[in-house]
Amino acid sequence: MASSKNFLQKTAILSLALFFCLAQKSVYGKGEPEWGFWAHKRINRLAVFRLPAEMQYFYKNNIDYLTENAVNPDKRRYAVVGEAERHFIDLDVYGDSALSVLPLFWNDAVAKMGEDSLRKHGIVPWHLQIASYQLTEAFKQKNAGRILRLSADLGHYIADAHVPLHTTRNYNGQLTGQEGIHGFWESRLPELFAENYQLWIGEVRYINHVSKEVWRVVEESHAASDSVFLFEKQLTTSFDPDKKYTYELRNNILTRTYSREFSERFDAMLSGQVERRMKASVAMVGDMWYTCWVNAGQPDLKSLLSESLSPQVQNEEAAEQQSWLQRLLKVRPESDN
Ligand SMILES: [Zn+2]
Repeated sequence: MASSKNFLQKTAILSLALFFCLAQKSVYGKGEPEWGFWAHKRINRLAVFRLPAEMQYFYKNNIDYLTENAVNPDKRRYAVVGEAERHFIDLDVYGDSALSVLPLFWNDAVAKMGEDSLRKHGIVPWHLQIASYQLTEAFKQKNAGRILRLSADLGHYIADAHVPLHTTRNYNGQLTGQEGIHGFWESRLPELFAENYQLWIGEVRYINHVSKEVWRVVEESHAASDSVFLFEKQLTTSFDPDKKYTYELRNNILTRTYSREFSERFDAMLSGQVERRMKASVAMVGDMWYTCWVNAGQPDLKSLLSESLSPQVQNEEAAEQQSWLQRLLKVRPESDN
């Protein structure tokens, strides 16, 4: 028995290593998954239906692109310098009053804290502002390829900012003996329960102050992180340790994951938190796309339909992804796994 258990453990460890190493879809930052890839794609897709008619035709026409490319920023994380820090901010690094210490705008923040230090602890609230500015410019230029690419990216960063564990240096519970909690919250729970989520939201609203709005979002996410850690700890203490995890086949690979029973109990304790954050993500992605379009003077997007994602743009996208992957395999040392 002991040796078969041993074998199982070894197989699982090996499988995990292989999984992280080979699966193109699993190029995660910080060693853990982001909102599962499924959730990122779903969020971008649903946001399209929130748009007003003038925008919806163009976005619907390209909805598969926006869905598939919702995960591009994660694929770039290890390959592109400066990418990784766009996905998070470790607010607790700045103490209890982080929100009053950190300047609203990037230039002020750089002047106050220094760029290197900021980048080290994550820049998602500032990058969201920059990304929304870039999307506004793309609308002004009526550049269909850029509009789509930046919309897909922006949707990704907005969704990340809604994840509680993207706002703390204890992002994977590694400081509190809760390793794995990151993927538990944002991949495992949606994977098990998201089909019951009610993610439909009404029409877009214009965001008056993008900078204030993005800071409000990370503040909310951070406030939610306390209960994520607390509930997992409470549940673990009261739970049969042999039943906390289970092994499941993923892409034909045996992988250790939180058991269904443990997940159900945790989800119940969070009382809809994952669903609320996912829903808020969908809402804000639509609102931000819309706000950028309004700020660009509401350009007529119908005229862009013919050029929307020409084969040439699609080829460029494919080539770019290929090069991330190549760089990734070259750049990333094996010891990372
Ligand atoms: Zn991300």
